[in-house]
Amino acid sequence: MKRIAISTAFALTLAAGAALAPTDAHSLTAPATAGNGWKLNSPRITHIDTKPWVIAFHDTTSRTKLTPYLRNTAAELQANLGVKFTVTTRIVPVTRGQCVRGHVISYRYMSKPDPTRSNASFTGACGINGAADGAYVYINSDYWLKTRNFSEPVRMNVIWHESAHAIGLSHPATCPRDRYGRQPLMCADTYKDLRTRRYSSFEQTAFRHLVTNRTYATVVNR
Ligand SMILES: [Zn+2]
Repeated sequence: MKRIAISTAFALTLAAGAALAPTDAHSLTAPATAGNGWKLNSPRITHIDTKPWVIAFHDTTSRTKLTPYLRNTAAELQANLGVKFTVTTRIVPVTRGQCVRGHVISYRYMSKPDPTRSNASFTGACGINGAADGAYVYINSDYWLKTRNFSEPVRMNVIWHESAHAIGLSHPATCPRDRYGRQPLMCADTYKDLRTRRYSSFEQTAFRHLVTNRTYATVVNR
């Protein structure tokens, strides 16, 4: 699934913070942002802060359709990241290319949201000072058409994949198998590639680094 990179003025904020970094041992160590089968959306997003997250929806149709899926995803993200994720009933309209802010992830259920790739869903994630701060997630409603013959686990995989983009994961450079024979969920680039029904050990490793990199970010940004 395609991830849309968004450049923001916050790069300047980060540079200013880095210039003020104290010269202690921590500031000399770069955070780990990629490994075997996992990758963070670095340098835009290298860690997750402790603020709680809100799951919202573009409109009532998106809310009705996607809420049942997102309860599972939110619970899994909360367990892996140690940060609260709440599925709300809030309506937050989104536009592709415009950052969503304030630790909100807003989901939009829409047919062919990318006109150039009819099968695609996509996510745009924005960060502040290296931490995820908000995202829009477009889920392609064509996956629910009877004529498309999508299975429920495949639809679920798409939602989990895009949700991981929203908080700072990227597509890894390598797609190995873990000891259960599963490949990274973030390796899936088309719906046919999806191989797992929930986050694999590779995404769990990436989530762990989002948390541990928080310490580094606190040092360089204070
Ligand atoms: Zn993707």
